[in-house]
Amino acid sequence: MQRFLFLQMYIFVCILFRKCLNLYRKIKIMNIAARLKNAGKEYKTGDTTIVALEPTTVEFRTGEITLLVGPSGSGKTTLLSLLGCVIYPTAGDVWVGDTCVSKLSEKKLAKLRLQHIGFVFQGFNLLAPLNALENVMQPLILQGMSQKNAKKQALELIRLFNMEDRKDNLPRNLSGGQQQRIAVARSLITNPQLLLCDEPTASLDQFSAKQVMEMLRDLSRENRAVIIVTHDMRLNKYADRTIYVSEGRISEEPIEDEI
Ligand code: ADP
Ligand code: MG
Repeated sequence: MQRFLFLQMYIFVCILFRKCLNLYRKIKIMNIAARLKNAGKEYKTGDTTIVALEPTTVEFRTGEITLLVGPSGSGKTTLLSLLGCVIYPTAGDVWVGDTCVSKLSEKKLAKLRLQHIGFVFQGFNLLAPLNALENVMQPLILQGMSQKNAKKQALELIRLFNMEDRKDNLPRNLSGGQQQRIAVARSLITNPQLLLCDEPTASLDQFSAKQVMEMLRDLSRENRAVIIVTHDMRLNKYADRTIYVSEGRISEEPIEDEI
């Protein structure tokens, strides 16, 4: 009898353990905003092949700020562009959330970009003829939302970023820091799970860089993965993780000739 009870308990514990393990795996996958699985990129020009990124496997989790650092030409923008579904890999697969994007059509890719990915660039890339508010509204309009609703949502975000008094200004009448705050607001209006930034603080003074980075840090805590390509050593203290890129390869440890 005792033996039978023991066996029953043993089976019960085994089932419970398996259930917990499956749950843990599910939560772990849920936390992954994007990943590369042996994904690489080569460019062919004439007879020469440039390996911009060797086959790479890496995951990016929500709640984390990751810095991508490395010398010019090492493959940082290529990695960011693969994650941003701007280019297709020439090998392997790229996943955004639970979608494998490497084989999606251009049209589906564009839709996924608009819904799940936000971009922030060094040069802000605001549309010059549109004012700050209209720039922030733009992604929602592209998604097919009415002007009225887009305006309401954009205003809320602009208020959150303390930029309400500048909402009618054209980009050229805003400072670098203000333009970048508007650019961050625009990248977030669709509530993307993946925020990709290419040198977002390069044109900013100390104060504006701090403001933008604090904003990005808060955003990463809202269940979002923030990935930043940078040369800017001021950003180190904001990073949860740093990935070093050198000659098309990534490493989680500093690469020797770079230290
Ligand atoms: P980083 O952003 O680190 O400066 P990139 O990812 O832009 O580096 O580039 C990595 C390598 O791939 C470089 O050698 C670059 O010249 C090459 N490369 C990037 N884009 C292209 C392209 N469209 N055509 C050909 N070569 C490219
Ligand atoms: Mg680059």
